[in-house]
Parts: sequence; structure tokens; C-alpha cells
Amino acid sequence: MNDIKTYKSKNQKEEIIFSKVESYEQSIERICEMMILSDFYKNLKENDKILLKPNLLIPKNKTKNVTTNPAIVEGIIIALLKKIESKNIFLGDSPAFGSTKMVTKVNGIYEICQKYNVSLIDFDEEKLVKLETFHEIPIFKNYNDYKIINIPKIKTHSLTNFTCAVKNLYGLIPGANKTSFHVKLPEEKKFSKLLYELASYIKTDFTIVDGIEGMDKNGPNSGETRKIGVIIMGNNNFTIDFLCSKLVDIDYNKITYLKYAKEKKIDLEIDFINEIINDLKFPYLKYRLPDNKKPSIINSYLNSKVLKKIFNKFSSRPIIDPKKCINCNRCTMQCPAKAISKSSKIPIFDYTKCVRCYCCQEVCPQNAIHIKKGFDKLFK
Ligand code: SF4
Ligand code: SF4
Repeated sequence: MNDIKTYKSKNQKEEIIFSKVESYEQSIERICEMMILSDFYKNLKENDKILLKPNLLIPKNKTKNVTTNPAIVEGIIIALLKKIESKNIFLGDSPAFGSTKMVTKVNGIYEICQKYNVSLIDFDEEKLVKLETFHEIPIFKNYNDYKIINIPKIKTHSLTNFTCAVKNLYGLIPGANKTSFHVKLPEEKKFSKLLYELASYIKTDFTIVDGIEGMDKNGPNSGETRKIGVIIMGNNNFTIDFLCSKLVDIDYNKITYLKYAKEKKIDLEIDFINEIINDLKFPYLKYRLPDNKKPSIINSYLNSKVLKKIFNKFSSRPIIDPKKCINCNRCTMQCPAKAISKSSKIPIFDYTKCVRCYCCQEVCPQNAIHIKKGFDKLFK
């Protein structure tokens, strides 16, 4: 217990529980020790229905660090079973490719759920909600029936620079709706505003961050594993993301949804966050950012169609490594702008249609999609 630190905000509304944890083997026991210290756990009632929401981006082996590690999920389930029957514990997501069952079978979470009789669900039914500025956003219809435990990983993200607790909630938007927003909102600023408004609207009950191994460079799928060695728990997704960005030395000004959160000061006790950062002596390591974002100076001039075409032709763009590509066409199916077409060898990109959302890179099982740098690198 000595390795566990707990923090409470001045208004007593927020809590953070932190521990260094060397390995996933150690994490199962440590998660139980940490959870019982939380107000969330103390207030759990035996008939509460719990929804575990890990990051299940695409089917990938747990060693690749694309999805939440099964040991983290196992620790949480063991702690919950001390208070709640397994019939009231569920695990679900809306992966970018495949179903909850398909992704969990590959990363090992399925086996854990079978072992403890936890049911899997897909977020296929939707209802429309009205956010602050975005209206008619489809989200998983029954999310309000559960106490939600958000279980993200700490990774870089090609579009938003960073993904952790806030971005993981984007998985509550069912199926193909998720990719369609990349076409409706191709600019990173607008997309990040949607993330900010969504995370402000959906009140999750607790967040447990898998920070033992993360990913930097071309995350969230094709980056490099970075060992961090921590688990962080709390009840405010924005606070958690501020802390985790500091943990890996990413300036929050480079994470647009956190800039919105700080501007709005929504339930954020900045002094409380700074106290924790100083006490825990963050950062622990420096994440390398993805190198494929449109620079903001370019974005601001992109209203002209002619400039857009020039930008699309010469700017940084996704390309396929033919040696790695197995022509599975996941990228073709996933592209929200219909900018990729099938061919007998490898898929072909139409860069005049491409909105640089990098969903293709996210879903590629072979890490075959790389970013060819264009003239926009001069503006970074
Ligand atoms: S680039 Fe990746 S996703 Fe696209 S066809 Fe090749 S292997 Fe499949
Ligand atoms: S080609 Fe890739 S980056 Fe371009 S729009 Fe399609 S999925 Fe997004």
C-alpha cells in the first residue's frame, strides 16, 4: 500500500489514486488495492450495473499495446466481484474495426471475461443527443443504464496528438458513425471540439488508466511501445488527461480538446492538478509526437478549393508500403472520404479526396501505412 498515493481536490469532488507498477503481472493485485481506496468503490451498491469501457481500437495482440491490456481488466473485475455479482458486470466498445468479441478474442480480454462470467456487449443501438454546439450526435443508446468505468491507454494520436480518457469516450459512438465525423469535421480543431463536448456530456463514473506500457510516434495503432510503469485512477476524464499528458511531457496546448477544457474551466481545479504534477515529479518520459498533422497555419487558409487541391497534392499524406501490405482492404472499407480504392496488388489513394484523418493507418493490421512528409513540414 505504501506505493499508492491518493489525492482529493479542495471541493472534495475529485479524487486521484496513483501508483507506480512495474509490470502487468503486478497490476492485478495493485488495481484491487487501489480501487478499494476510491470513493467510487466505497459507494458501489450490490445491484449497480457496471460497464467496462476499454480501448478496443482494432484486433491486435496485447503485446502491441494498441488496446487496453487484459491484466488491467482482470484486476478491475476481481475488485468488482467483491461487491457485485458477475451478472451485473459488462464489457463493451465500438471498435474501429471488428466487434467487441472479435477484438477481445485477439487481445486476450475475451478469455478473462469468460473466466469471470462477464458479458460482452456491442454498442450497436444508438440514440441522438444534443451537445453544446453539435446536435444530433449518435451515442450508445443504453449507456445511462450503467456505471461506466473508462479504461484507456496513454498513446499518441495522428489526428489529435494524444489519446487517453477523453478520446476513449469516442468509442461510445456506434460503428460507422465514428468515421463519418472525420468527413463532416475534417479539421482537427472542430473534431477536438466534438471530443470535448462529448466528454463533457457523458458522465463516466470512474477512470482507470493503463499506463504500464503506452505508445508514442505514430499512434494509436502504428507507433512504438513506451514503458511508463504507472496506473492512474480518478473520476474526471479531463483531469486524468491533463495529468497523463504531463506524465509523458506533451504540452496541453498541443492537445486541442484540453485547451477547450482549460478555457471553459469545466469542473477543473487547476491548483489540484498542479499539486499532483509537482508531488509526483512528472514528467517520467518524453513521448515523441506523430509527424503527420496539418499545421494550423495551413488549416486557416484551407477554405479556398484551389488551395485545398494544392495542399492535398503536395502535403504530408498516407502511403502504403507494398512489402508489408497484404491487400486485406481494411483501409479501403474504413476510409470515411472514399479516397481509397481496391486494386489487384495494393489499394490506391486519391489524395484529392483524402481528408488526412489517418483512419486508414489506425486500422491497418500490418502497420503498412506510413506518412510521406510534404511541404507542410516547413510550417511546423
Ligand atoms: S494497407 Fe494495410 S489495411 Fe490497407 S490493404 Fe494493405 S494491409 Fe490492408
Ligand atoms: S485515405 Fe486515409 S487519411 Fe485519407 S481520408 Fe481516407 S482514411 Fe483518412
